[in-house]
Amino acid sequence: MIIQPKTRGFICTTAHPEGCAKQVQRQIEYVQGKPGISGIRNVLVIGASTGYGLASRIVSSFAAGANTIGVYFDKAAEGARTASAGWYNSAAFEAAASAAGRKSYSVVGDAFSDEIKAQTIELIRKELGQIDLVVYSVASPRRTHPKTGETFSSVIKPLGGTYSNKTVNFHSGEVTQATIEPATEDELRQTIAVMGGEDWQMWIDQLQEAGVLAEGATTVAYSYIGPEITHAVYREGTIGAAKNDLEATARRLNDQLTASGGRAFVSVNKALVTQSSSAIPVVPLYISALYKVMKEQGIHEGCIEQMYRLFSERLYGAGETLVDDKGLIRVDDWEMRPEIQAEVAKLWAELTTENVYELSDLEGYRREFFQLFGFETDGIDYEADVDPNVAISNLR
Ligand code: NAD
Repeated sequence: MIIQPKTRGFICTTAHPEGCAKQVQRQIEYVQGKPGISGIRNVLVIGASTGYGLASRIVSSFAAGANTIGVYFDKAAEGARTASAGWYNSAAFEAAASAAGRKSYSVVGDAFSDEIKAQTIELIRKELGQIDLVVYSVASPRRTHPKTGETFSSVIKPLGGTYSNKTVNFHSGEVTQATIEPATEDELRQTIAVMGGEDWQMWIDQLQEAGVLAEGATTVAYSYIGPEITHAVYREGTIGAAKNDLEATARRLNDQLTASGGRAFVSVNKALVTQSSSAIPVVPLYISALYKVMKEQGIHEGCIEQMYRLFSERLYGAGETLVDDKGLIRVDDWEMRPEIQAEVAKLWAELTTENVYELSDLEGYRREFFQLFGFETDGIDYEADVDPNVAISNLR
């Protein structure tokens, strides 16, 4: 089958197995070229197939030499449909981890369900004994509550008032004004139920009750703060309220785990092109301007660079883990430097359809978006016939 990108809005409905494998390999090679990390043996990554979760799994396995279990929601190829990018990424990861002699297992299914939690716990018992790091990196538009059966949908909306700002169609380069009406109380409640901390808490409770969480275990989940221009739609909107809940959960989990020498953190990461962030209005244009400035200053990072820095300098670096006055790990520190933000704000004020490719790195954004699905990757022949059916070894 010849596999080409097919887009619908901000999603790409096809993925290329060889391109995805190449992107995973690039990330593996990046961490292999860095000093190793010690102190982690067995890692569980929930939301492990793309973006920050995949990068966390790669750092765990290839910089720290750890065994890993990845939990994710991805689909195999079927008929004329390719598998999802996360499926191909995970197939490539599993193959590379096995070749390097590390244990690695995949659990494919709904992380929010009791069944997948129970299945994962059984797998830990059987294959690894105990886990000493749990990374929670799920990003989802929906969640079905395991006890009540209610299905919640998340929305990205401001709270209190209408929000209006520039946004871009990253396929056409058209810069327009996005206007978003405020969320209702119920939309806010549902967004917190999807992207807040309840499911993370459930995972840690169930792992602890089952006795598969090691003494002194660490857990980390990811958050975002970002600049003033996106505050109304992100940090002070529905998704920010969910992140406040996630951060409050980290404080509770930290109290719960300190009794056995463990720790819980939220790491605030940099804005990056992922399947989740491309769905947020305004953010892709901000990321394009940010990339331009950070690349020019030589401090641009992608998921793998961010996660290597998080693990090597913060979570498992020398001495106490560095946190801000709210107890948050800040690997968005370079993004948030005042001189970087001042430069981005200057560009932001001037951005229009006419100058967007000149004043921002929209071309870089667009390319990275397609690379998430294995396209526009150097060294891949996209005219060649390729088998979309790729098996994941160690799939449970
Ligand atoms: P992503 O879309 O690349 O990855 C999401 C992962 O969650 C995938 O592995 C997917 O399979 C998995 N997933 C989704 N629903 C699931 C379910 N029901 N069961 C099991 N797995 C499921 O997202 P990302 O951008 O890497 O986001 C991960 C975390 O990082 C989120 O908390 C996000 O808010 C945070 N973050 C992202 C950015 C950014 O700019 N992308 C910045 C800072 C923080």
